[in-house]
Amino acid sequence: MNKRPQQLSAELSENNSTSKRRKMDGQNRLVRLGFPSISTNFGDFPLDIAAEIGCEAIKEFLKLHREFDFNLILTEQDSKVLNVFELKWKEIKDDLEDFKFQTKNGNLLRLKNDLGIECRFIVVETTWRMKLGTNKLSKQIFDVLGSKLHEELKRLYPNPGVVGEAYPVKIPKDSDLHINEGIEQIIFLVSPNMNTSRPDPVSLEKAKELLRKTYNSMLNAFWELKNGQEYRPIATKRDESQKVSAFDILMKSASKPSPKISPESSRRTSKVGSGEWNNVLLPYCQKPEAFPKSEVYYYDNEFVIIFDKYPKAKKHLLVIPRKQIDNIGELKKQDLELVRALKEKGQWVIKKMKHENPKLLFRMGFHAVPSLRQLHMHVISQDFISPSLKNKKHWNSFTTEFFIDVEGIERILEEQGEVKFNKTYYEDLLKSPLKCHLCDAKSIKFIPDLKKHLEEHWNES
Ligand SMILES: [Zn+2]
Ligand SMILES: [Zn+2]
Repeated sequence: MNKRPQQLSAELSENNSTSKRRKMDGQNRLVRLGFPSISTNFGDFPLDIAAEIGCEAIKEFLKLHREFDFNLILTEQDSKVLNVFELKWKEIKDDLEDFKFQTKNGNLLRLKNDLGIECRFIVVETTWRMKLGTNKLSKQIFDVLGSKLHEELKRLYPNPGVVGEAYPVKIPKDSDLHINEGIEQIIFLVSPNMNTSRPDPVSLEKAKELLRKTYNSMLNAFWELKNGQEYRPIATKRDESQKVSAFDILMKSASKPSPKISPESSRRTSKVGSGEWNNVLLPYCQKPEAFPKSEVYYYDNEFVIIFDKYPKAKKHLLVIPRKQIDNIGELKKQDLELVRALKEKGQWVIKKMKHENPKLLFRMGFHAVPSLRQLHMHVISQDFISPSLKNKKHWNSFTTEFFIDVEGIERILEEQGEVKFNKTYYEDLLKSPLKCHLCDAKSIKFIPDLKKHLEEHWNES
């Protein structure tokens, strides 16, 4: 690498200060995140806008985290990129210390060797296919760590990645990267792409939104990992081949694994939106016998099954444990039994309902962000023919990933011991354009179109 003299002196002073700091630090050594300029190297994202979005995200993050035990290092080999970021940062940084966010001219994989800067976490961009070698840096990583890393990446994240999300992978302790560079984890980012000769290009407007998301995911992941927590990416997108078909739905009431979901760690659903929550379900748990048959379908000592007051389909019931549990966010591994019991009750209801009308198909599951207090599992027929289905939010809450099959919750509890969802991500799903859950019909723009379309499906079935 050719170094300009000016740059060399800057590096020397960095060398001094880092060695001093390292001595000072002792056990709590400085934790650094090394990252490239996201989406500008091969994603064709305009540099000035990218720098603005990046700097804003970093500023927000640093304002929230005033600790001195970490810093963020933007590393690029092109000084032009660094200059644009530096200018932007000066403009917006307010009272934030220069030390917290620095730019370095160098190679992320040789930062310690070349500049004496040890980054425990570095960032590498990838595509939603999670393939290595699709850009310069990921090629270099692949050359160093080979197929081991690729296998680990596939093992941890078997599903396609979501654009804007971060996927951390620990690197082997016996690898050169760890021994020589001190790198412990690589945070893979699925960053937005605007380059039309690469897969899945998006418009500038969309890319801006996704770049913001990408920077936030990167920083959140770093923060969790730095603090010894696990960072779990939000749900990976549903593969096109997994699109729900009537057959799928039929199979789902058996024990087929549901669409892949893995929750995110940072926010708990129980803490948010509690203002809108209400307790209408609790009286059913406390005194089911006080309600008429038209409201309570069944109850025993452990469960109560009620008809949803605003059914979104021909048959729509709620299976509720009588024990007080606010929502899925409170479930722990030991509640697996309870979830399985809910599923069993749900299967029993489905059997009863299908006996009355064999045409009905069902799904049972939970809303990622529930609107009612007290854990409840929806058992809902897939016709979605009901006057109470009135808007996009209603529709999307049962036909997008916002609706999580009971098997999905089971799997998450088994694998991760708890269920945590990123509220923002899931609430955004409610705004998705209307889409038929059974076919690829393109003409559905408004709820009345959808209702007509659903009637057609019902009549054909
Ligand atoms: Zn609900
Ligand atoms: Zn359709």
